[in-house]
Amino acid sequence: MYDPLYHVAPGPQAAPAPSYWHAHTQPLWPSTSAILPATAEVVVIGAGYTGLNAALELAERYQQEVVVVEANDLGWGCSTRNAGFAMPGTGRLGYSHWQTKYGEAVAQAIQHEYQAAFARLERHQQACPEQLQAQLGGYLKIAHHPRTVAELYRQYERLVHYEPATSWLNQADIQTRVRSPNAYAAIHYPQSFGLNPLLLLASIARQAAAANVQLVTHATVTDWQTMPGGAYPHHLQTSRGGIQAAKVIIATNGYTPNQLHASVHGRTLPILSSVLVTRPLTALEQQSIALSPRELVMDTRTLKYYFRLLPDGRLLFGGRGAVRGKDAEHSRYADRLLRALVATFPTLQDLLLEPPAYFWSGWVAAAFDNYPRVYQPADGVFTSMGYCGAGVTFAQLAGQRVAQLAMGEPLPALPFYQTPLPRFPLPRLRRIAQRLYYGWYGLIDQIPLSR
Ligand SMILES: Cc1cc2nc3c(=O)[nH]c(=O)nc-3n(C[C@H](O)[C@H](O)[C@H](O)COP(=O)(O)OP(=O)(O)OC[C@H]3O[C@@H](n4cnc5c(N)ncnc54)[C@H](O)[C@@H]3O)c2cc1C
Repeated sequence: MYDPLYHVAPGPQAAPAPSYWHAHTQPLWPSTSAILPATAEVVVIGAGYTGLNAALELAERYQQEVVVVEANDLGWGCSTRNAGFAMPGTGRLGYSHWQTKYGEAVAQAIQHEYQAAFARLERHQQACPEQLQAQLGGYLKIAHHPRTVAELYRQYERLVHYEPATSWLNQADIQTRVRSPNAYAAIHYPQSFGLNPLLLLASIARQAAAANVQLVTHATVTDWQTMPGGAYPHHLQTSRGGIQAAKVIIATNGYTPNQLHASVHGRTLPILSSVLVTRPLTALEQQSIALSPRELVMDTRTLKYYFRLLPDGRLLFGGRGAVRGKDAEHSRYADRLLRALVATFPTLQDLLLEPPAYFWSGWVAAAFDNYPRVYQPADGVFTSMGYCGAGVTFAQLAGQRVAQLAMGEPLPALPFYQTPLPRFPLPRLRRIAQRLYYGWYGLIDQIPLSR
């Protein structure tokens, strides 16, 4: 599998992920092009949620001539591989962090920004004939061990100030909704919902094409030279030929190759996140776990597990994947996830008798200080990345914001928009640090599973 730290670039003919979404969805795709124009006012690299939202905004609001170059098929990266948890927020930091560091007004403004992201997601839902196959009912953040209940309750007390509709479930309550030995209490976030990520990607792509964005697929950017002075200083070489641009938006996120542009090198850590989908559960199996297809669940582990019941009765279960791309498809990672699923729901132990129906992985981008940035890394170059695995909702707005930045508009005075992504110290050692992190938190998080 492509590995951003080792390979020059993804594609241009990499197969789509072997995902449940790809096997069970027939979205209506817009036309794409095999021919690159010689020039464009803006070239967007990467056709995921970020790149397509940026392109849509640039064409629709600013009437820019926009070309999106994508290494493989539209949405080949995370945007068609994710679990479809649409939640308010991004990164790994909560309101209490923002409140302590920047004050109450900034924390409130961040809450408003998350609501704006939801509003843009709703626009894409309305533009989708299948309404994204939304499963409305909210998200449960569950304490996976008694020692995490008190901290989760403290989070709830602070959270309810910003999101008053959230509610607290004690152990008896949560056991009626997630019948698991690893569920001791929970916060319920009613606004969140489950969606089909492939339908979402196709909805944005159709809107972008309708706004005259030119979508060029299987066009991997392999070289980038800057010649200051002219109208089109950025000269990009792709597998479909060359194109010159006045401005470039880098929307490659966790798939950003090391050599793409020096200004973004070493500022994110690509981490593999993996998902399995089981065969459809029997009615008895579904009853035994008490999980509703309307609710999304994630736990309080540092290396989190998350799950949801799909409309056809299959269980989707996700967590961390391998460290290196070359190991991503090894069966031991699917086995490990399956064993975690059965530890969460022991009544489903028959699932261990066969490999999961679907298993796939994708690269999410971790930021050194745990939150993304929309910023200008170099002259005429703009980017939005580092969502730390929480981009389904936020990327919709971040794409819009990076387009506004490229057009010289001021952005809201929020931490996401005021500084560059910090560089990882000793970027070459990122993988070693990641292994140590996994080893340590894997041990701590294992305690409740092996009780
Ligand atoms: C298994 C998994 C589960 C997830 N679940 C959730 C979830 O439930 N909820 C949530 O909020 N988030 C989730 N995420 C994260 C979420 O999917 C991402 O944050 C989001 O999709 C990022 O979108 P993006 O457009 O920024 O990047 P991507 O969708 O990754 O797009 C980047 C694109 O850049 C292209 N590219 C890279 N290099 C080049 C090049 N040189 N030339 C041309 N093109 C290039 C790639 O081909 C790729 O298509 C999950 C991620 C994974 C992997």
